Amino acid sequence: MIIRVLGSAAGGGFPQWNCGCPNCQDVRSGHVAVEPRTQDSVAVSADGRAWFLLNASPEVLAQIARTPALHPRAPRHSPIAGIALTNGDLDHVLGLFSLRESTPLQLFATEAVRQGLEERNAIFRTLHRFEGQTTWRSLVADVERPLVFPDGAPSGLRVTACPVPGKLPVHLVGLTPPSPEDNVALRIVDEQTGGVLVYATAVGRVDGAVRRAIAGATVVLFDGSFWSSDELPRLGLGAARAEDMAHQPVGGPGGSLAALADLPIARRVLTHLNNSNPLLRGSSEECASVARAGWEVAHDGMEIEV
Ligand SMILES: [Zn+2]
Ligand SMILES: [Zn+2]
Repeated sequence: MIIRVLGSAAGGGFPQWNCGCPNCQDVRSGHVAVEPRTQDSVAVSADGRAWFLLNASPEVLAQIARTPALHPRAPRHSPIAGIALTNGDLDHVLGLFSLRESTPLQLFATEAVRQGLEERNAIFRTLHRFEGQTTWRSLVADVERPLVFPDGAPSGLRVTACPVPGKLPVHLVGLTPPSPEDNVALRIVDEQTGGVLVYATAVGRVDGAVRRAIAGATVVLFDGSFWSSDELPRLGLGAARAEDMAHQPVGGPGGSLAALADLPIARRVLTHLNNSNPLLRGSSEECASVARAGWEVAHDGMEIEV
């Protein structure tokens, strides 16, 4: 399986349009220690020809444009066979609305995520402009299913949605009751190579379910949103703590790195980095400490094969 990181930033991207924190200032001025990042999304493929996107970021068009493997090979064509969603947060679904130009879309999502998008949202009707434009493929918690092509043929990849601690998208809070299927990690297995990717970019807390989802993975792309709980308040960027946004911080004794230290994972990668995160600076002490713990920090364009 080829895994290509299309975007490695959390919601808002890097730099974030309304942020003047030191990281965002430096990336705007072209400082060598930081590089710009688009919002969280990954493309996976068994054969390098047909691809599935994991999440559809607001920058999906730019991400496709700079990735030749995702370019059309006929006058009307896309090598993107389907899109699997981890939750309904806008940084993971807004890109769907940029993919409305009449190529049928195959969407893999839990019923809770599908309902939030389709039944609460008149704009979603733009993806139902003709019969068959959008086909939903239901992800049921902890039940593996094939990532099929639009005609139902197998792709060589299988996916399991594993519920992990998270939250409803902000725009659904108060409208719909929370469900364990609001937020999932995606576990993707390549039938040929046996390689296993676990994609878990919104994890409120490492609990038993998270550890089970990750156990035995060849590579994990994990929630690296915040280094510390009080990162935003300390930089004067807001009152919310990492946990308030359903992201367990990475660093410190209560952080996700410590909680995952004993799990056997061949390759561990942090992604979905918020613009405030010191891990965005390659020269930071925090970067050195995650490297010592055996973790890498994702960047846009990173490619991994398992
Ligand atoms: Zn996100
Ligand atoms: Zn910033």
